[in-house]
Amino acid sequence: MKRRVYIFMFIDALGWEIVNKNRFMEKELPFRYPAKMQFGYSCTAIPTILTGKNPQAHKHLSFYYYNEENSPFKIFKLLKFLPSKIFDRWRVRHLLSKMIKKVKGYTGYFELYAMPFDRLQYFDYIEKKDLFVPGGLAPVKNIADELEDRKIKYHISNWRLSEKENIEKLTSDLNKGEIEFAFLYTAAMDGLLHKVTKDGEEIPEKLEFYKKEISKVWEAAKSNYQDFEFYVMSDHGMTSLIDEVDLKKPIERLPYKFGKDYVAVYDSTMARFWFRNSQAKKEIIKILRNEKNGKILSREELEKFGVYFEDNMYGELIFLLEPGYQIVPSDMGINSLPGMHGYHPEDKDSIASFLGTKNVKNPPEWVGDYFKIMVDKMDEIVGK
Ligand SMILES: [Zn+2]
Repeated sequence: MKRRVYIFMFIDALGWEIVNKNRFMEKELPFRYPAKMQFGYSCTAIPTILTGKNPQAHKHLSFYYYNEENSPFKIFKLLKFLPSKIFDRWRVRHLLSKMIKKVKGYTGYFELYAMPFDRLQYFDYIEKKDLFVPGGLAPVKNIADELEDRKIKYHISNWRLSEKENIEKLTSDLNKGEIEFAFLYTAAMDGLLHKVTKDGEEIPEKLEFYKKEISKVWEAAKSNYQDFEFYVMSDHGMTSLIDEVDLKKPIERLPYKFGKDYVAVYDSTMARFWFRNSQAKKEIIKILRNEKNGKILSREELEKFGVYFEDNMYGELIFLLEPGYQIVPSDMGINSLPGMHGYHPEDKDSIASFLGTKNVKNPPEWVGDYFKIMVDKMDEIVGK
């Protein structure tokens, strides 16, 4: 029988506010810390958690970045005359995303979202590879690389499976008693929170579900190991919708052409711009400055968030909305959602959480600190 197993469970969007309001597993997980979110979305936070590095190092900030020269979507130039009535339907886009994923051999999470087809040709997509496997964030090392380096037997969830399946897979691995480290990935909480917000009556029910599932995992750990440690971590919380901001309209009303005078990506809470015409730049900035529910991020803020890119990979300029506001329509969706994340990391609803059965040497201040905690445990396993 192996002496001990360390289990880290990731629950997407289980914010600090939600944990406290619902007193989630207070008794069972008595060591509890708020952790500052990584500025960005889950697609930013997960690479940060898996590597302990910020986006400047691992390069993942949002899905789309400007790369006109080598865009993998050049083919869409030919498709711009497709009837948007059909091709803008989510199901059609989802099927098309699946096709592209297959043709291009992407192993990561790939979704076109609501990016207009005639704009795709200007962009590249960052998450082409599976982030969770060895080399998934190369040249930066992720936890799978660290585990391989130490020759530790481990279990890392397959993010493509449902959370129920992932919990079952982990339980069955624990029953074999061979692994010493596990990273359990669950993401359904995020989708639910987007839909019903942190105040939705479905939330306590969902937390009860996690509690039950966790107890099953604990049973398996208890019967096959002398001891175990269990930690829950999240990437951000969820902020309820206050109002929509139609940022595209005033910008697209200007006499400038997308692709010729400027390029932009409208994420749900931020807009990112690249300029080719100084007059267009001036007038777009004027519009952004007039938008009272958001602001242009300064270089200091970008550096503080770890998202300052010398080559402007994610934009020459990033405009961020105040918590509770959403860009509608955006390239991520045509409608607003009751809940959203991706605001300033100081927003109280954005704060993530880290909970454990045991105290940790270095409590996390920011989600990137989870990596160090996991690596410390790996070192304990190999007796360092
Ligand atoms: Zn989300």
